[in-house]
Amino acid sequence: MLVFRECQPKRVFLPRVHPSRPPGASASRGGRSPVSAEGEASGTRVPEDEGVELRRTVDGKGDGVLATRPFAAGATVMVGFLIGALTGNDSHATQVGPGRWARHGGLEPKVNHSCDPNCGVRLNDGQAFDFVARQPICAGQELTFDYAMRNFTIDHFPAVCLCGAARCRGSVTGWKNLPAARKDDYGELVAPYLRTMDDETWWALRKGAGG
Ligand SMILES: [Zn+2]
Repeated sequence: MLVFRECQPKRVFLPRVHPSRPPGASASRGGRSPVSAEGEASGTRVPEDEGVELRRTVDGKGDGVLATRPFAAGATVMVGFLIGALTGNDSHATQVGPGRWARHGGLEPKVNHSCDPNCGVRLNDGQAFDFVARQPICAGQELTFDYAMRNFTIDHFPAVCLCGAARCRGSVTGWKNLPAARKDDYGELVAPYLRTMDDETWWALRKGAGG
């Protein structure tokens, strides 16, 4: 029997935020774009039938991305695409490899962190991350993931985590500081390079190569 837990959003949300779409922008699902302009960041190329929408919370905590239909565990909830490479880490950057960061387009940068998230990430053919349901997700439920699923270290968030999860670990930490049990919980739904960076041999080889 399927158990739907946390089916009610914990926050109260205002009506949908309608993302602006630049003239001529493609609405194709999961397509790749060579666009690198910052102005085409979040809110663009979001098809109406994507199954997710952006809403502004009334508690002043900012935006949240909600499911507009149910998703089964293991289903792809959002197809990721990159809009440009970055020269370093920042508060909206996604780590895409050891020492490499990039910016995701669409609503992905608006998905909030949780220490007990309902989504994980999976690298796709465009070297971006899809969001995958870790558990059944109901329509109206806020989508969350753990920033530690993509970033080895977290350098640009306050020390205190405000996710509100019962199992909140207290601060938004990166993969490097994630307890081993949580790493096991997340299984394959994390950036693959993170497990490579867990391997002390990899660091030794990198150091030996002068990297
Ligand atoms: Zn937390």
